[in-house]
Order: sequence, then C-alpha cells, then structure tokens
Amino acid sequence: MENKRDLLRSIPSVEKVLEDPGLVDLGNRVPRWSLMEATREVLAEIRQSIAEGNRGKEPRMTEIVEEIAVRAEAGSRRSFTRVINATGVVMHTNLGRATLSEDAVNAVTEVAGSYSNLEFDLAAGKRTTRNMHVENLLIKNTGCESACVVNNNAGAVLLALNTLAEGKPTIVSRGELIEIGGSFRLPEVMDKSGTTMIEVGTTNRTRLDDYERAITETAGVILKVHQSNFDMTGFVESVAIKSLADLAHRNGMIMVEDLGSGALTDLSQFGVEKEPMPQESLKNGVDVVTFSGDKLLCGPQAGIIVGKAEFVDRMKANPLARALRVDKMTLVALEVTLRQYLEPELLLEKLPTLRVLSRKPEDLKQRADRVAGALSAGLKERVRVSVREVTSQIGGGSLPAAGLASYAVALSSEEFSSDRIASMLRRCEVPIVARIFEDNIIIDFRTVQPSEDETLTSQILKALAGGDRR
Ligand SMILES: *Cc1c(COP(=O)(O)O)cnc(C)c1O
Repeated sequence: MENKRDLLRSIPSVEKVLEDPGLVDLGNRVPRWSLMEATREVLAEIRQSIAEGNRGKEPRMTEIVEEIAVRAEAGSRRSFTRVINATGVVMHTNLGRATLSEDAVNAVTEVAGSYSNLEFDLAAGKRTTRNMHVENLLIKNTGCESACVVNNNAGAVLLALNTLAEGKPTIVSRGELIEIGGSFRLPEVMDKSGTTMIEVGTTNRTRLDDYERAITETAGVILKVHQSNFDMTGFVESVAIKSLADLAHRNGMIMVEDLGSGALTDLSQFGVEKEPMPQESLKNGVDVVTFSGDKLLCGPQAGIIVGKAEFVDRMKANPLARALRVDKMTLVALEVTLRQYLEPELLLEKLPTLRVLSRKPEDLKQRADRVAGALSAGLKERVRVSVREVTSQIGGGSLPAAGLASYAVALSSEEFSSDRIASMLRRCEVPIVARIFEDNIIIDFRTVQPSEDETLTSQILKALAGGDRR
C-alpha cells in the first residue's frame, strides 16, 4: 500500500493528460473550454478521493482519459434539444406542449434572423405596437372588441386582475382554486395581482346566491376559472357563465374568465371532446377572457387576452404589460397560427398538434406492429417486445377525463430494470422519452411522429442490443 503523498504525486498534470492522443483527437471535436473544464474536474476529484483516503491505487491514464472524454463531450453538447415524445401525452408541458406548424416555423426562422417590422408601421413609416400583428386576427377569430398578448396565461390572469381589481375584491368559487403544473396556483397569482380574494361556495358546489352574498360595495371582479386538469363528478354544482356575467353586471362588477386551453374551434370534429371556446364566453357576456397559446390553440407559448375594449385597453396601458410582453419569435408564430384558423378546412392539414390528437388507433397499431417486429428481430431474447392497447392523454391541463385510444410497444427485460431502460432511451442521440407502466417501458405511437419511427427503432436497437455502457 502506497502512502497518500505518493499517490497524490502520481496524478498526472493537466498538460500531460492533454497530450494523450485520445484527448488530442477529441480536441478536434469539442471546444477547448469543455476539454479543460472536464480535465480539471476529473483530476480534482481524483486528488480529493486520495486525500480523503477513498482511493488506494494510482490512477491509470486510460481511465482518466476515458472519463474526461465522456464529460467533455457531454459538456459541449447543446442542452436544449428536440426529443422523441413517446409518452402519449400530447400537450406535454415538460416537452414543450404544442408543436408549431411548418408555416409558423418558417416565419420564426425568417423573423429571428433578420430585422423585422416588429413595432414599425410600414404604411405610415412610424412606430407602433407589436400587438397589432395579432389583434385583428383575434378580433376576427373570437368576435372580441380588443385583444392583447402576453408571455403566458398565468401572466394574462395576473395582468387582468392587477388592472381590473387591484385593491378590490375578486370573487371566486372554492371549486376553482386550481393548481396547474406545480407552479401556477391560482390563489398565489391572485395575491400577487394585488386583488383581495373572496372564496365562495364549497369544493364541489357553488351556487349563484353564494356569489351574490359575497358582493361588496367596492365592486371588483367575479372570476371564473376552467378546472382544466381535473374532473369532478357526483354531487357537484357550478353556476353557468351567463348567469354569473349577468350578476356581475347588475352589481357594477367585471366578469373575467380564465379558460385555460381555450380552443378556438370545436374540437369534436377532430375526434376530441369539445372544450369551452373564448368566442362563446364573450357571447355569454364575459368581459375579459384569458387562455394559453400553446395548449389547444396549438401555437407558441403565450397568454391571450380578449374582451371589451374598455377593459383590455386598460391592460395594454398597465406597466406590467411591458414586463410580460412576448418576443418577436412568439408573436410571428402566433400570427401565423391565428391566420390558419381563418381557413378552418385546412386546420387539420396545417396544425401538427391537431393531427396528433386525431390520429386513428388502427394507424397507430400498424406502426406499433411494424416497430415491434423490427425490435423483436433485433433484440432476440434480451428484451420482451409486445404491442398493447393504451390510452394517450391530451395533457397541458386540458380535458383530463378525455383519454385517446392508442397503441404502444411495451418493452421489458430480465436483464435491465425499466428505469434502466428508460434512462438508456433518454441518452440516445435524439433522446426518447417514454413512460413506465407495470414495470414495462411504454412507447405510445400517438405522440411519436411517423417520420420518427425509423430513428426510434434504430436507436432502441443500438441502445439495448449494445448493452449497458453507462
Ligand atoms: C394552463 C392554465 C393556466 C396557465 O397557463 P400557462 O399558459 O401555462 O401560463 C392557467 N389557468 C388555467 C385554467 C389553465 O388551464
């Protein structure tokens, strides 16, 4: 057993390590900063483990070089990348929700790489607001008087309540105090807006007279929130939006509705349950409606506010609107998406997320069968491969009860746990994100694009047949 001092002295210098042919070669593929960072890190860790008495052997050069190479490559790889969504959750918030149409993507590319008329009126030759690119389209699509767009729907709710109810009460049903995705909790957003929340009713039942009794002299807002990501059945009661809007107006209050996903078209034509639409809320007398751009609208992340001019125009003038404004790439993607809604007969062809929602189970089964065949042939006994009927989720806080019939390839193995397989799939060149069910990896074909089937297959074969490198 050598002593610590000898071991420490045996650690090669950074210069020496970098002279290793393996790393010299790697240096042509990864940037110098990443190579240096990995080298210093690995050597420091070896030094520390010797110093702490956790290492009794001299470090070997091949071992050091291999570890540096892995880290340098990982460190230089872009973090934000496309993935194959095999989870079956269509509007997966962690995987970027809706995918944009080809036209929207092209417009983003064009505007991102050039100067643009973001806030410039080309006809008049003077400055204008960025909102103008989408406002008319929102008026056409929803029948609102005025519209404005912010960063996301949470921002839209914040802006609406801050503008219309700061220092005043906002009455809301206890059954609608929702949490979305862990970070949007309605009571917290309301609190930040400066309004005073007045909860009425109970979790499962709220009646018109509950709202009525809560009305105060200082008016304020009645807020209705779409429950979005959960479903209540049984002994439940809520107040129709029209009666609520009438009650608000009789008492000089403003009726605001947070619709969440806000589909602009009746989704039942695409084989999905109908979601409430902003144009219907406005018809029913709601003053201000907010909804997301990247849920069932199938556009970019955005918070869309439509409603009566007297209220929406006040929101546009609120300094918070500046803090919450959208950037040019979002705005142009939203403009293109909203234009597509003016030609409803082309929607299914244009919007990829609508196509994902409307994929037919029999087509998904065919693809699953084909991929399963290739995987069984390639993986032999190592991994059990089967095709299963599964239920995809719409996700993104929409239609929680409405699952979509789908087909999946299920993988399981004696050799690797399903957590292990999932992790190997996530480490592929185009990472594959799947779900685990009853110790099986489930690859749901609804959210895998048909053009990805081949990459999916070859990557799984490579990852699992090649065994377990890391
Ligand atoms: C999704 C959702 C939100 C949050 O919208 P983001 O665009 O994610 O900020 C707020 N309210 C409701 C009802 C929702 O469904």
